[in-house]
Amino acid sequence: MTTILRSNGIDNSPLQIFVKAKKKINDIFTEIEDYINDTVDYMHEIENEEKIVSKGKVKKIEDYVNKVRSIREVLARDHMKVAFFGRTSNGKSSVINAMLRDKILPSGIGHTTNCFLQVEGSSAEDPYLTLEGSTEQRAVESVGQLAHALCKEKLSESQMVRVFWPKNKCLLLRDDVVFVDSPGVDVTPNLDEWIDKHCLDADVFVLVANAESTLMVTEKNFFHKVSTKLSKPNIFILNNRWDASATEPEFLDQVRRQHQERAIDFLVKELCVCTTKEAEERIFFISAKEVLQARLAEQGQTVSTPLTEGFQTRYFEFQDFERKFEECISKSAVKTKFEQHSQRGKYIANELKDILEEIYNEALKLKEEKLKLQKEITDKINYTEQQLLMVTQEMKLKIRNMVEDVEQRVSKALTE
Ligand code: GDP
Repeated sequence: MTTILRSNGIDNSPLQIFVKAKKKINDIFTEIEDYINDTVDYMHEIENEEKIVSKGKVKKIEDYVNKVRSIREVLARDHMKVAFFGRTSNGKSSVINAMLRDKILPSGIGHTTNCFLQVEGSSAEDPYLTLEGSTEQRAVESVGQLAHALCKEKLSESQMVRVFWPKNKCLLLRDDVVFVDSPGVDVTPNLDEWIDKHCLDADVFVLVANAESTLMVTEKNFFHKVSTKLSKPNIFILNNRWDASATEPEFLDQVRRQHQERAIDFLVKELCVCTTKEAEERIFFISAKEVLQARLAEQGQTVSTPLTEGFQTRYFEFQDFERKFEECISKSAVKTKFEQHSQRGKYIANELKDILEEIYNEALKLKEEKLKLQKEITDKINYTEQQLLMVTQEMKLKIRNMVEDVEQRVSKALTE
């Protein structure tokens, strides 16, 4: 497998915060597992020898083996999840493709995403997809074929199709970022079901808005719902299609300021999810289409197209978004995913320590009892010895007195 690295050859992406934390917590749980396995082996060795360890305690320790194993399984599946929302055709699929540097998701007229599409990294050489409720792996050869496959299936709008893309083709997927594309929020969705099914574990939400119009009530409503179910969700707002502004440069600053103010008000005053300063770092003016085209051309996948006025600035702004997004998602995922695991790990280690301490104290008590018993027996033996000595001496004295008495009587009788 070819290893992909960032252009400078060094992986200094903020995503590494999550990647390193995941490795570290995994190592800790490997140690905890070894420690529990050693304890179980030792318990089995001493279980039958003495009555130090009860069967109940051995069972309790054995149960921790399964608990730690299931935490490690969840840990292996832990990832950073970003969900994209917005009206149909605002460019959600284009943003995802631009970030993944490849045409993975179908986009454009005729390819409206009519279900949830999740793109995640896989170790397989070739991409494939699975439909909700099935484990059957269907090969995906091209974007066109994926779009065709999705159209063929009668998918309901809240169903999830998972697209597994080879990890070695994309840095973000290699680092465990999972992308979720949604049907447009304008397709009369059951927002509650959407949020409950697909959003509760999202670390970051990206609202892809159309810079050519203002934020719509339907778009705002969705995030109002999200923020009633999740406390302070991390939301980025991308004003996409900003390349359109190039045609009207005289209004550029004014339009930008207007969008910026409205978006800040939405995040700060309406949703109350961040401060004005934080909101300023969450709003970007980009063109996903341009970035995707430029990146595909860079990789030699397509020929480069003539650049529109202001392309470089928009490209830099997209990169700025990616950097802030990576920082935000990795920090948030470390907190939401690993905080719980580390609490449970601490709890298990403490419980195990308490059980072992109990066993140790019981063993000490048993030892003391044995010593006490031994002392009592020794004392008894000493007492008996003393008694015997006393009795023997008494007897000796008595016999001597008797002998003397007899001697006296005999000599008296003889003299008489
Ligand atoms: P989605 O329905 O939100 O996923 O939108 P798509 O990504 O499918 O985009 C819909 C159409 O808008 C496609 O034809 C894209 O090529 C086009 N599009 C997406 N982003 C941009 C952009 O930044 N500028 C322009 N001019 N067109 C865009």
